[in-house]
Amino acid sequence: MNTKQTDVLIIGAGPTGLALACQLVRHGVDFIIVEKNAAVTSYSKAIGVHANHRIHFLLNGTNSL
Ligand SMILES: Cc1cc2nc3c(=O)[nH]c(=O)nc-3n(C[C@H](O)[C@H](O)[C@H](O)COP(=O)(O)OP(=O)(O)OC[C@H]3O[C@@H](n4cnc5c(N)ncnc54)[C@H](O)[C@@H]3O)c2cc1C
Repeated sequence: MNTKQTDVLIIGAGPTGLALACQLVRHGVDFIIVEKNAAVTSYSKAIGVHANHRIHFLLNGTNSL
């Protein structure tokens, strides 16, 4: 069996998991992210960006609006 060491295990590569992954990269924390789906869904789950997301973008330095 193959084993891997990491500091953080993220379950799910949705917006929450990916946002956390971005923060861990910024802070140099080692992590593994796993996603049960093999591919990106072809159905949209977001057509708009809420105002609160803008605050998050500003705080983490990814604001490009
Ligand atoms: C039709 C629709 C339209 C929407 N429109 C908008 C919009 O316009 N604007 C907006 O801001 N939001 C919108 N939303 C809401 C937005 O999509 C959700 O708030 C967002 O996807 C939640 O992100 P999440 O990462 O918490 O969960 P999810 O997006 O559900 O991601 C969780 C991930 O974890 C994976 N997972 C679950 N269990 C496991 C497991 N045991 N092992 C491995 N992987 C696992 C899942 O496959 C999934 O990829 C919409 C939602 C829907 C359904």
